[in-house]
Amino acid sequence: MSYELPELPYLYDALEPVIDEETMQIHHDKHHAGYTKKLNAAVANYPELAGTPVEELLENLQELEVSEEDRTAIRQNGGGFLNHQLFFEIMGPEKEVDEELVTEIEEAFGSLEVFKAEFSEVAADRFGSGWAWLVRDQSGDLQVYSTANQDSPHLTGDTPLIGLDVWEHAYYLQYQNERGAYIEGWWEVLKLI
Ligand code: MN
Repeated sequence: MSYELPELPYLYDALEPVIDEETMQIHHDKHHAGYTKKLNAAVANYPELAGTPVEELLENLQELEVSEEDRTAIRQNGGGFLNHQLFFEIMGPEKEVDEELVTEIEEAFGSLEVFKAEFSEVAADRFGSGWAWLVRDQSGDLQVYSTANQDSPHLTGDTPLIGLDVWEHAYYLQYQNERGAYIEGWWEVLKLI
C-alpha cells in the first residue's frame, strides 16, 4: 500500500488572481507529486511501515529502523507530502471560515490582525526555502513559527493548522522576488479565516 497524491480540491485557476494557474499546476502535479513518489520510494524497503500515517512517521522519525539515507528522505518527502496536502486544503476560491479557529486565534494573539502580522513576518523572514506555520503544540496552545525546507511541525510533535509555502516554486512565476506581495495576497485565498 502506498501513499497517494491527493487531488487538488478545486481547479488550477480557482485561486487567480492571487495564485496563477500555471503555478498551481506545476506545484501540485510536479512538486506535490514528486514528494509523494519519493516518500513511497523511501519506505518501499520497509514493509512493516506500510500503511503508517505519515504524521506518525515524522513524529517517530528518530526511532524508525531505517537507513540514515531513508530517514532523511522520509523527513524531506514525508514533510513535503503532508505540508502540501494541508496547504492545498486550506486554500479555496470562497471563504469557509472556521469560527472556532478564529475565536481561538483572537484569544491567543489579541486579534486576527495581530496574528496575521506575526505570521506574515515569520513567513517573510524565513531565509531561503521553508514554511510559516500556525500550530497547536503538545500542551494545546497556538504558536506561530517557521521551518526550513520541508520540515513538518509533526517532527516536534506539533499539529499544523495553517501553513504557508514560501519556497520560490510557490510564487516565483507570478511574483518573482516579491515574496511580501505573495504573502499579502495569500490571505485572500486562505479560506479558514
Ligand atoms: Mn511547495
